[in-house]
Amino acid sequence: MSEEHSKSMTETEAAEVTPNTVDDNLTFADLGLDDRLLRGLAKLNFTKPTPVQAKSIPLALAGKDILAKARTGSGKTAAFMLPLIHKILAVKDALPANSPEATATRGLVLVPTVELAGQVTAFTNNILLFCGRAVSVLNIAGKQNDNIQQPLLATQPDIIVSTPSRILAQLKLNAVDLKTHFQTLVIDEADLVCNYDYEEDVKELLTFLPKIFQSFLMSATLGDDVDSLKQLVLRSPAILKMEDKTMDSTWDNLKQLYTICSETDKYLILYVLLKLKLLKGKCIIFVNDIERCYRLKLFLEQFSIPSVVLNSELPLNSRVHIVEEFNKGVYDYMIATDEGGLKGEKEEELKASVEEIEENNEDEDEEDEEEAEEEAEEDDGIPEGDLEMEFDGSEGEDLDNDEDEMEAMMKASDNEDEDDEASAMAEMQGGDVTPTDSKKRKQPEPDTKTAPTKSKKKSGPKKDQEYGVSRGIDFVNVAAVVNFDFPPTAKSYTHRVGRTARGGQMGTSLSFVVTAEEKEKSLKSSQIIGGGGWNQMQGDDEAVFNRVVKQQSASGCTINPYTIPMQQLAGFRYRMDDAMRAVTRMSIREARLKELKAEMLNSEKLRAHFEDKPKDLEYLRHDKTLHPTRVQAHMKHVPDYMMPKVQAVSSEKIGEAEGLGHINFKKKTQNSVRVSRQNKRHGGGGGGSGGKKNDPLKKFSFGGGGRNKDRKGGKRQKTA
Ligand code: AMP
Repeated sequence: MSEEHSKSMTETEAAEVTPNTVDDNLTFADLGLDDRLLRGLAKLNFTKPTPVQAKSIPLALAGKDILAKARTGSGKTAAFMLPLIHKILAVKDALPANSPEATATRGLVLVPTVELAGQVTAFTNNILLFCGRAVSVLNIAGKQNDNIQQPLLATQPDIIVSTPSRILAQLKLNAVDLKTHFQTLVIDEADLVCNYDYEEDVKELLTFLPKIFQSFLMSATLGDDVDSLKQLVLRSPAILKMEDKTMDSTWDNLKQLYTICSETDKYLILYVLLKLKLLKGKCIIFVNDIERCYRLKLFLEQFSIPSVVLNSELPLNSRVHIVEEFNKGVYDYMIATDEGGLKGEKEEELKASVEEIEENNEDEDEEDEEEAEEEAEEDDGIPEGDLEMEFDGSEGEDLDNDEDEMEAMMKASDNEDEDDEASAMAEMQGGDVTPTDSKKRKQPEPDTKTAPTKSKKKSGPKKDQEYGVSRGIDFVNVAAVVNFDFPPTAKSYTHRVGRTARGGQMGTSLSFVVTAEEKEKSLKSSQIIGGGGWNQMQGDDEAVFNRVVKQQSASGCTINPYTIPMQQLAGFRYRMDDAMRAVTRMSIREARLKELKAEMLNSEKLRAHFEDKPKDLEYLRHDKTLHPTRVQAHMKHVPDYMMPKVQAVSSEKIGEAEGLGHINFKKKTQNSVRVSRQNKRHGGGGGGSGGKKNDPLKKFSFGGGGRNKDRKGGKRQKTA
């Protein structure tokens, strides 16, 4: 560490701010923000600043660099964006009319994922509602064509939102000037920026910035992982350490449940919970890889339960549109992977788990290995020749024409990036500003070792490496998160369940945990139903689960068991077996291919329409049935005799998560009328139950905690 930096970090420690002492009566106007911003905030119904906003905005307006421990849900975007815009407005107001200096890029916001870039940009545009043309924002994250992006950059937008690699590429191509009038650099989700191996990019990027500018670094953690970024980017920052509980009420409003089950029972339980609406409202179902996204989607399709998938393989425009629509309530169930956000975390937790692994007896490990080998050898119920064609979305496969096509499409986009990078490197430029200020950041030398950065990237995942769902994205009104596959790290558990119980609303998480014992059972049952990859185990659930329990209890939270009387689901098991048989590896591969092709077409339409005709896109649905498998009509409905007594996981409206209930047999009550009406209103929604008169789902009523509300509902109907 240089002397200069040692000094600045010592100063930082003294500048730590305790955020827990925010005045309840504080308003945005008290913070001294520009009137146009205050009007924008009022339009968004932001009545008072969140703690991170209350603390950071005055410091930022006073010119301080800021290091804030704050994550999505804390209001961190406004915390950095409001002062950033305020400063731009102030500079521009002070300039004479028509001054050429008015047109310049003054702010850069770096984010780790393209999804987050979209969200930050959308939020900024909302805030700018009353700023007229005074401030513009441009999002350049993602794999847009340079021919489109460069003319937009040439207009010198006031603020650019980007991933580090994208802006670096454009800087190297001389497409944008960040030296002349640059004011503010923001690194959002800084720990994730580090996880995504962007540090080298940031380092290089700094060579294109002036010596003096203000920096904000927002991070979910302030540990070693962000140390080098801190050193690189901040000078004498104020440090805001937001407590998880004060920055976001997530943990108070989140009901965390788990259930120990076998791999096959996961499917059975989820089917029952969704079909019988025991898990109500919008739900994100996390799985651990893309193949399992489609496996689960096809499985649910067998019961006419529609869902939308979200994974790194889908084109960016489709992903952005899917998230937007999910937030608008177009889809009830989203099956998502979070592979992108796990990169660094896996390694981190791997280290942490070494000790635990050493404690385990070696015999167990050997057994696991044998089991894994056996699983790998499991047949699929399809001929061996077909098995050889199994598609895993990576490389080295014996592909048929369709797959060739898809592979070619995927490679084309990879090559596009590589071309960009090659030409970008060729045009790299150096800095020429002479340092004069004693508090200057350490200006990194232009990196002569650019090649290693790139080779590092190429060794990363083949999918979109800037994809990230469990972190950063502000999902709205999610009633429940289901960890269908238990996350591979405790950290990713925290991020996943953090997608619900946001903005002061209640939420539920339900995690399926497959213990070693259950894993054994899974193997047996998958043999019974003919393999089909249903026995795929995703790492060691138990070890990670134990770590999660430890972490949660350390922060005063509990994860409670959710008990399901499995014997009552016996009647559903045959249907589940039927559905499982219908979903083979071949059908998954076909579905994945079909979806990818469809989304590539969607993506083209989205690209053309995103900017000026967003309403035209409403007809573009992403949850269409992929049905390469035979869908059996009778599986859509559940007859009365099969009704189990199972405790509901979450109630329909978020905010009523305590409304636990159970399903009564046959009894036709006012409640059932209400449920029936709701079913009609929702057009069968996620359960696909709407429409027909004799749908047995309409005869259900929910007892338990929900009863009082139901009775009231009955009264209202009578008087109406
Ligand atoms: P963020 O942490 O920036 O992702 O923000 C989380 C959510 O809180 C977003 O939906 C914001 O629109 C919302 N939000 C941010 N600041 C405020 C505020 N002061 N009052 C109400 N909602 C806010």
